[in-house]
Amino acid sequence: MMKAFSVWLLAVLCAVALAVSHGSADETAPVEIYTPEDMLRIAENPDGSYILMCDLDLSSVEWPAFTFRGTFDGNDHMLINLRFGDVSSETQVTYDGNRKTYDTHFAGLFAILDHACVKNVRLPGLTLSKTYEGDCFLGGIAGYANESTIENCEISGTVSLDVTGRMFGVGGVLGYGNAVIRNCKVDVTLINTDLDAAHRDEEFLGGICAAGYPDIDACEITLAGFLSDHGYVHSGGLVGMYIVYPKAFSRNGFITNNTLAGFITFFEDNTNRRAYCKESCGEVMDWLFKDSGNKYSFKRDERKKYDVNLLPHGDCANPVFTENTVAPSCTEPGYTEHTCASCGYSYRDDYKLTVHTPGSEYETLDAPTLETPGLGLFTCELCGAKIRGELPMLTPTPTPTPLPTVTPEPPVTDTPSDSDAEGSGGNALLYLLPIIIGLPLGVIAGLWNRNRRRKRTR
Ligand SMILES: [Zn+2]
Ligand SMILES: [Zn+2]
Repeated sequence: MMKAFSVWLLAVLCAVALAVSHGSADETAPVEIYTPEDMLRIAENPDGSYILMCDLDLSSVEWPAFTFRGTFDGNDHMLINLRFGDVSSETQVTYDGNRKTYDTHFAGLFAILDHACVKNVRLPGLTLSKTYEGDCFLGGIAGYANESTIENCEISGTVSLDVTGRMFGVGGVLGYGNAVIRNCKVDVTLINTDLDAAHRDEEFLGGICAAGYPDIDACEITLAGFLSDHGYVHSGGLVGMYIVYPKAFSRNGFITNNTLAGFITFFEDNTNRRAYCKESCGEVMDWLFKDSGNKYSFKRDERKKYDVNLLPHGDCANPVFTENTVAPSCTEPGYTEHTCASCGYSYRDDYKLTVHTPGSEYETLDAPTLETPGLGLFTCELCGAKIRGELPMLTPTPTPTPLPTVTPEPPVTDTPSDSDAEGSGGNALLYLLPIIIGLPLGVIAGLWNRNRRRKRTR
C-alpha cells in the first residue's frame, strides 16, 4: 500500500523496526541488532550469533570488555562513538621473545575473541585510549584472539596506550594472538607510551597486530605509529613480533597480498639495543609463514631523544587549529576535522551517523493507531535505499462543535467606578455646561424684558 504524506520529520528508526522484526521462530537465525542496548546484550550471551541491522551511535552506553565466542556480522554497517570501559578482568597468557609468560589484560571492540568470527563491520573514528598499570594489549577489533576470524572490517581512528607494565602493545586490528585477518581496511594512528622509564619492558606495535601469529591476507593499511619505550621495541607495518606459541607448537601461516603505507616514529631507550622496526614484521621468532605479494611504502623513523614522549602532533612549534565540519551522507558519517595551520596535521572527532533523505511516499509496514506510532518503508531520494521510519500516531477525527447559545447582554450602564473618577468628573461637567451657560443668559434676557415693559408703561 502506498500513500502520499506531507513532509514531517522522519527519524530512521531502527528501534521501531525492532518491534516488528523480532520474534523470529528460526533458532538458527542471527539475533538482529538495532539499538545500543541490543549491542550490550551480546555481552550477556557471548556465544551467540549476531547481525547489525543499521548504523549505530554507541555514545549512550559504556562498552564492556568481555570474551566473545560467537559470530558478529556488521552487515556493512558502522559503529561510531564507542566509549570503552575498563580493560578485561579476564586474562590470557602472552609470550615475549624469550617465551617468558605474562597474565595480560585486553581491550578492543571485543576484548577477547575465542573461536569467534567478526566480519563486515565498520569502525570509523574509533578512539580506543587507555592508561593502564600492568600488562595490557589493545586492538581495534580485538585485544586478544585465539583461533578466530576477522574479515571485511574497516577501521579508522586511534588506538593509544599509556602504560606502566612489563609486557604491552597496540595493534590496528588485533593486540595479541592468532586469527585469520582478511580483506580489512585499516587507517590508524597507533600510540604506545611506556610511562615506566626505570624498567626494561617488552613493547609491541603493529599496523595489523602487535604480537602473535596472525594470518593476514589482502589487507590495506595506512599507519602512523608512535612508540616511546624504555626497553625493547618490536614494531612493524603489519606485525610487531611474529611468534608461534607455545614452544612445542608449529603452524604454517601466511602473510600475503597486503598493501601498507605509513611510518613508525619511535625511540628505544636501552643500552642493550634491538630497535626492531620493519615494514612487515619487526622481529620474526618463527619463519613459519608464507610471505608473498605484499607491497610496502614505509618509513622507519628512529629518534634518540628519550625524555620527550613521541606523539602525533608532538613536535609542532606553533599549533594553530582550524575546524571544518563535514555533514553526514547516505553512506559516510559526518565529523569535525581539526587541521593545524602550521604543519598540516589533522584529526577528526564528533562523529555523526549517516543520514538518508526519505521521499514523501511510503509503504505501510505497521499501521499507526490512536495509541501507537506505526512503521513505514520509505525510499531514500538520494541513494534509493529502503529506510524504515516511524509513522506518527493517528489523531482523533474532530466532531463539529455546536454553536454556543447567544443570550442578549444587558445594556451597558455607565456606572462610574473608583478608578473611573476622573472620567466621570469630566462627564458631570458636560451635563452642567448648559446650566452654567444658560443661567446667566436667562438672567440677562429677564432684565432686558423688564426694561422693555417699563418703557411701554411710561
Ligand atoms: Zn601543527
Ligand atoms: Zn540515502
